[in-house]
Amino acid sequence: MEQLRLNARAKINITLDVLGKRDDGYHELSMIMQTVNLCDNLTISTDKSGDIELSSNYSWLPCDERNLVYRAAALMKETYGIKKGIRLHLEKNIPVAAGMAGGSSDCAAALVGIRNLFRIKASDKELMALGKTLGADVPYCILRGTALAEGIGEKLTQLPPFPNTTVLIAKPPINVSTAAVFGSFDMSKVDKHPDNELMTELIRNKDIEGICQNMCNVLESVTINNYPIIASLKKAMLEKDALGSLMSGSGPTVFGFYESYDKALAALRYIRGRYNIREIYITTVFNTGR
Ligand code: ATP
Repeated sequence: MEQLRLNARAKINITLDVLGKRDDGYHELSMIMQTVNLCDNLTISTDKSGDIELSSNYSWLPCDERNLVYRAAALMKETYGIKKGIRLHLEKNIPVAAGMAGGSSDCAAALVGIRNLFRIKASDKELMALGKTLGADVPYCILRGTALAEGIGEKLTQLPPFPNTTVLIAKPPINVSTAAVFGSFDMSKVDKHPDNELMTELIRNKDIEGICQNMCNVLESVTINNYPIIASLKKAMLEKDALGSLMSGSGPTVFGFYESYDKALAALRYIRGRYNIREIYITTVFNTGR
């Protein structure tokens, strides 16, 4: 039996700007995304059944058409006429509904993994076009690394690699719906927008201090307003030596950049002692080496 095991990595937003609302109801975005090494693990194998079978370490996570991994497998089967069965096991570590694109990254790993396992001749570009039909962040999760994402997140420009940095990630125990955050987004409540051209230059120059001073996510105006714990976490990270701290995506996850693993560990212990947070991780940024 052939088997493949893949890492499906999470992303954080270095910037996130909303430029306006489109006629189709989606918001026009401009954001700089960065892959981190915190990841889910996806194991894929094949059998003679002809069916798709998905399992997960989280019993409460749906493993049918509601799961993006299942939908990726169904789309690959249909598009490339795969007759054999596909068995997938998903081990989740990335916080769910957290603004870290966990589901999209699992979906991307399923597309790439199934292509590789069945030796299908499809380029990454082709998979990105397929992935876009499953979710706006899926193409980015295939590209990975440092990128500017525009449109609804699907128009990608690769950026220079991010400086190697330790990242502390903390997800407060609240659930945030991405759709609800965009639904109550009000441009008039935003007092600061990111400058993505400046940020690109800072990344090119590996100026981590400049990056930290200019990180900006306009969705904080909605999510922090509803959940003050996010502002409190950012403050706690900065008090405990973070070079910079920001909410990722639509939240509620907060991340901080640290000079060293030891400093991040001291902050992790401090935050664990003060907040009811189980989902807290130290990781590093991931660059593709392209
Ligand atoms: P984004 O940053 O793109 O907004 P997110 O981190 O907010 O993503 P996800 O963790 O990707 O959100 O998942 C949100 C919802 O999608 C969950 O409520 C879950 O039921 C559903 N979902 C579908 N497939 C998956 C998957 N493979 N892993 C996690 N959630 C999934």
